[in-house]
Amino acid sequence: MERPNQPADIARAAIRLLGTRRLQPTPDNFRQAYSEVSGEKADKPRETGSEKAEAKPELRWADAIRPLIKQWDAHQIGLGQTKKREMLERVLINFGHDGQQLHDKLSALARSWATGGNAAQEERVAGEVEVTAVPAAAVTAVATARDVAPTVVAPDTWPSLRQSLAGNLRLLADSCEPRWPDLAARAAALATAMVASASASADSRHFEELAAIWRELLIRAEDDHELSTGLRRLVGLLFLNLGELVGDESWFSGQMAAMQAMIDGNLNPEAVRGAERGLRELVFKQGMIKGNLDDAKEKLRSLITTFIDRIGAMSDDADGYHARIGAYSEQIGQARDIGELGEVIEGLTNDMDGMRQALRGSHGELQEARAQAEQAEQRIQALEGELAQVSNLVREDQLTGTLNRRGLEEAFTRELARADRLLAPLSISLLDIDHFKKLNDSLGHQAGDEALKHLTRVVRDLLRPTDSLARYGGEEFLILLPNTGLDEAERILKRLQRELTRQFFLHDNDKVLITFSAGIAERDQDEAQAALIARVDAAMYRAKAAGRNRVERG
Ligand code: GH3
Ligand code: MG
Ligand code: MG
Repeated sequence: MERPNQPADIARAAIRLLGTRRLQPTPDNFRQAYSEVSGEKADKPRETGSEKAEAKPELRWADAIRPLIKQWDAHQIGLGQTKKREMLERVLINFGHDGQQLHDKLSALARSWATGGNAAQEERVAGEVEVTAVPAAAVTAVATARDVAPTVVAPDTWPSLRQSLAGNLRLLADSCEPRWPDLAARAAALATAMVASASASADSRHFEELAAIWRELLIRAEDDHELSTGLRRLVGLLFLNLGELVGDESWFSGQMAAMQAMIDGNLNPEAVRGAERGLRELVFKQGMIKGNLDDAKEKLRSLITTFIDRIGAMSDDADGYHARIGAYSEQIGQARDIGELGEVIEGLTNDMDGMRQALRGSHGELQEARAQAEQAEQRIQALEGELAQVSNLVREDQLTGTLNRRGLEEAFTRELARADRLLAPLSISLLDIDHFKKLNDSLGHQAGDEALKHLTRVVRDLLRPTDSLARYGGEEFLILLPNTGLDEAERILKRLQRELTRQFFLHDNDKVLITFSAGIAERDQDEAQAALIARVDAAMYRAKAAGRNRVERG
């Protein structure tokens, strides 16, 4: 046969040659075949234009890595080392196989860090190449998981902000020291607790204590205009801190908004107490819902992991089968008699069956996992919706069925108008369960909830239909007693106390005694609602201070 002499013809003939010899078309084999066809020496590879182009300039790695190390140690706001490590890993994964690209991307990464980590730029640097060997369904599932993942303050952001918050608190402690050493001690202790906390994200108890310290400070500074103005400025500064802290944490955003509204508005002890109550309730409710939400998210995450594992296992299996089938085709090619061929065919048939079953099984599992993931996602959406509604809920408290704050507002307005119209007396009472935290801690939250329901049942049975009962805070209730003077109100509250010693709260067949401290007040003529509540609130605090399980007149 005539030897081809055009390069394209030589290449075609070389490929044919590889085919007839059942050789893999690797560059080496191809070069060998090419030389054979063209009659040139194989060990002297021809220098082609493309090979010339592959001769790369030497990469200056030190120039790429030095700025990276410099920026790694530098401090950039919102760009901690965890984030940097993640970005670096993405670059290594995506471009590690190509020296030139890796070099360029590392340099670009250092530049993006130096400019404070421009988000869009980071994405371009780190993620240009996405490995898309995963089926579309899995990609969607992963995207969903990422979308719903809880957005906690970045673990490396919180400690530094915590430090500055603690610093502010120490400043506060120093300035309080001469006048109020007890408050100074509390602020200092809180600063220490914040710094010592190993938690990777903010701890709501610290913020509760912070709110309590402010409340106390504001009450004490009430008469000192200069001091309270100064305090207001300090609070503003602290909130600036907190603002940075919250980031995407919607939980804190809600609490922050409540506090901020208080600070911006008319700063007085009643407003502060009101804000504290609202905050406590919000923290508690959010805690409950967040627990459920986290469970659902966790379930979704684990489902998605299983899902992706299955896909991985499936393609691993398929790789194994491919290798074996390749070996069978080799054996078939080399079989000398029909007997040998029979063995090969049997093996092949078994493998095909196995593979079919494995695929069918995986398919079923994948569908199942997907359905469950969808369910979990729906649950998450429902819970998130519930969370969004918490503050807008109707007029009833969900747990106890009493009026909530909104319902109370309406009832109050109605009763004030009626009292004015009929010139009738109106008394109110604020009661707060004694040591309720202890009950929660020792018997559990569930029991705490049951205790709240028990108390409301007993109170309701005793009140008249025209009276109103509202949940004012976590374990605080406000009672409106129309047409009732102060003496009568006191009698009602004392009867209530006696009734609670008769109707015990039963927990696992154990009798648990619930007591409360209450303030009572009768409305003065034309007295505003806020002033009346302030009086009853102060009376309730006096009942606590005097030893609890008491009723005090306001
Ligand atoms: P004091 O006698 O001074 O009133 O002590 P206390 O422990 O009752 O006071 P505090 O106000 O510090 O604690 C109230 C606790 O009530 C805090 C919170 O855990 C709990 N709580 C608030 N709302 C609920 C609720 O809806 N269910 C349950 N189980 N506990 C709640
Ligand atoms: Mg309380
Ligand atoms: Mg209490």
